[in-house]
Amino acid sequence: MPRTEARRLAIIGAGPIGLEAALLGVQLGFEVRIFERGRIGEHVQRWGHVRLFSPFGMNTTAGGRAAIKAELPGHTFPSDDECITGRQHVAAYLEPLSRLKVLKDCVRTENQVLYVGRQRLLKDDLAGDPKRANAPFRLLVREKGKERFEEADVVLDCSGTYGQHRWLGDGGIPAAGELAAENAICYGLEDILGERRNYFAGKTTLVIGSGFSAATSVVNLAELASSAQETWVVWLARTASTQPIKRTPNDPLRERDRLAVRANTLATRTDGNVEFHAQAVIGSVESLGQDKGFKVTALLGKSSQPRTWEVDRIIANVGYSPDGSLYRELQVHESYTTLGPMRLATALAEQPGADCLQHGSRGADALRTPEPNFFILGSKSYGRNPHFLLRVGFEQVREAFGLLTGKPVKG
Ligand SMILES: Cc1cc2nc3c(=O)[nH]c(=O)nc-3n(C[C@H](O)[C@H](O)[C@H](O)COP(=O)(O)OP(=O)(O)OC[C@H]3O[C@@H](n4cnc5c(N)ncnc54)[C@H](O)[C@@H]3O)c2cc1C
Repeated sequence: MPRTEARRLAIIGAGPIGLEAALLGVQLGFEVRIFERGRIGEHVQRWGHVRLFSPFGMNTTAGGRAAIKAELPGHTFPSDDECITGRQHVAAYLEPLSRLKVLKDCVRTENQVLYVGRQRLLKDDLAGDPKRANAPFRLLVREKGKERFEEADVVLDCSGTYGQHRWLGDGGIPAAGELAAENAICYGLEDILGERRNYFAGKTTLVIGSGFSAATSVVNLAELASSAQETWVVWLARTASTQPIKRTPNDPLRERDRLAVRANTLATRTDGNVEFHAQAVIGSVESLGQDKGFKVTALLGKSSQPRTWEVDRIIANVGYSPDGSLYRELQVHESYTTLGPMRLATALAEQPGADCLQHGSRGADALRTPEPNFFILGSKSYGRNPHFLLRVGFEQVREAFGLLTGKPVKG
């Protein structure tokens, strides 16, 4: 395998895509190191109580399952058509993958990559020139408060987007007061019916968003209200529709459709514990003190009618954005709309509004950036586009290795 000999491969992120890339990288003869700032599957663990929409068979690869079975013959997988939670997925697949003999010494958890550059080259040196590949990458890594440098010939950025929330305010910038209140606002998927039950029970919670994360939060809060009756939900969405969650006709992902129907029903009925307001933008958020709640003003409807609520909790399910600061010193051409790599973003834009199931991979060329041997894979490659599916990421991994080795790679 001469082309891959002594090729040091650094992977950023031990999520589902980073781990899959690590396994394939080792199998292809790369010297792999995988840097993970938290635990194995950190982001999946953070939303671990949520059930995946896609079934287990779609969220794993034949190669990954075979490698686990070869080493742990007694390990049992859920059935291919089962929709399990994020936590179960980590236990059934990601953890066993990370503990394989070939991977366990490559994985460095609690190692955060802060920046990636090229030795003795600045961003503006050798513009778009393949000769940049002659200079190794330098990664600044932080572990337990200490910083060090690591070198690599190839870098795969699989660091996802879940770690970087977007802002609540009109135009995507922070609402007045949001920066000061940021630490008290919940931007992720809270375990409302589990470990965060007491935090939300009997409280008034403002939920902002019109995607499936907001739907999950609202449905769970409504369920909580059936046992803790004081629980109240104010749900605000930017959309003009009174049915905020967009359904896919004949949705093959049944769990997803059930959630959409349930959330839309809660938005339209008037006798429950949920009040819904469409066409809402947040103007200001004022924290009323430690655990004393917030005063929130929103502008409602076409006429931007201001309305103020006092709420105990805020869940801002307004999406995520990729962190480009990691590769700021590299030659990465980003889309000015999605912040994903430009070629892929352009290919995805050819199918605006398409459901994630209609998105296959866009081919190896779409993954190239002007920086040689640097690839953004997985959910981060979609940037702010929320339609990423794991099965697309697995294809991307194979395609990236196809480019690196010069021959097609099977999973
Ligand atoms: C609630 C929810 C449900 C979803 N359900 C599905 C589903 O049913 N089916 C489906 O196909 N997709 C689903 N997705 C979309 C997508 O598949 C997941 O987000 C998936 O986790 C993406 O995998 P990833 O490996 O690209 O990134 P992530 O899982 O986000 O992993 C990135 C990893 O990188 C680490 N990291 C980040 N920055 C650094 C750094 N600087 N240094 C080192 N490590 C770093 C993180 O800690 C994390 O472990 C869902 C997403 C969400 C949020």
